Amino acid sequence: MDMNERIERWNEEASQCKCGSAHYKVNIQISMEKGALNKIAPYVVSQGYKQVSVVYDENTREAAGRKVTALLGDAGIMVSEVLLNANKAGDVIADETFIVELLLALSHSSEAVLAVGSGTIHDLVRIVCFKMKIPFISVPTAASVDGFTSAGAPLVIRGVKQTYQATAPRAIFADLEVLSAAPQVLTAAGFGDMLGKFTSLADWKVSRDLGKEPFCPLAYQMTEEALHRCILHVDDIAEGSEKGVSILMDALIVSGISMLMIDHSRPASGGEHHISHRLEMKFMEQGRQPILHGAKVGVASALLTDIYRDLYQAKNVSAFGAYKDLPQREEMQDWLSKVGGPATLADMDVSDADFKEAMASAHTLRPRYTGLTYRNEKVVPNM
Ligand SMILES: [Zn+2]
Ligand SMILES: [Zn+2]
Repeated sequence: MDMNERIERWNEEASQCKCGSAHYKVNIQISMEKGALNKIAPYVVSQGYKQVSVVYDENTREAAGRKVTALLGDAGIMVSEVLLNANKAGDVIADETFIVELLLALSHSSEAVLAVGSGTIHDLVRIVCFKMKIPFISVPTAASVDGFTSAGAPLVIRGVKQTYQATAPRAIFADLEVLSAAPQVLTAAGFGDMLGKFTSLADWKVSRDLGKEPFCPLAYQMTEEALHRCILHVDDIAEGSEKGVSILMDALIVSGISMLMIDHSRPASGGEHHISHRLEMKFMEQGRQPILHGAKVGVASALLTDIYRDLYQAKNVSAFGAYKDLPQREEMQDWLSKVGGPATLADMDVSDADFKEAMASAHTLRPRYTGLTYRNEKVVPNM
């Protein structure tokens, strides 16, 4: 079944879900196949757009940007190109400087914007399009994160990272040829973001049982199945083959859709994400080059499995049974290494002290009850 049919089925199931949360209809056209870039121009024409902007950086221009621009031009679409130049540290980041640059560079007569790149370029385009009230189209160049379909944009403003309300793309064109040509560290980051679902899903059950927070079994199951497919096909993902990136990208998109469906990140983000955000803020403070989101999430999730298992083994809180079946830390780290990403703090050049500090304050980032909240505060609400 293709992704668009699966989305229709999930929308149907969500409309009948009795979990008590609000469910939102997901409406994103998804094309994930070899040669998906060739479908962009016909889609743009079908939407009646005559003028669009294409946004990329130097790397993603080569990966897909040039080709997309040429294909649109051949179809008679007026294209204005926006090249985001890396900052002095060699990065494009979703901060106020890049937001203003993009805003100034975009033609005001563009009827839609195509984001060609990985997560950061998407977040920049997502917030600017939301404010300009025009649609955007996603052209991922690597299976590096589950945020492509997201409606929220994590932005760094005055050095503080926060997620802002923005908009999801109208359509996604994920070309397997492009994704499989991406550097393996990016694919490994996407895998790390998926591996993090082990702890985020377990945390979600704990949030439900201890924090009395909303829980949707459909969103839970969608994310869990996507995670298990990645584990089953870890060798293909490690090869970075078209088959491997297709399984991984499918899982990342499903994870993103499960969040859109309930308008919450609970299925995909637990203690491991809170630690990752804290580490990222620490890195900014120290003026260090950022580490890929999914790389930090994967390592944090592996380390949390030991900590969470200890909570379960203490046996004083029955809800910690959710942590019983987490994989062993070593197994998680083996998967991460196999796929080509960092597996330990040392691999990321993060000190034990920085990790401990991140862990001690991570639970205060979001109003969400996780195993970390218990570990740090030893308070169980509603009991
Ligand atoms: Zn993530
Ligand atoms: Zn539900």
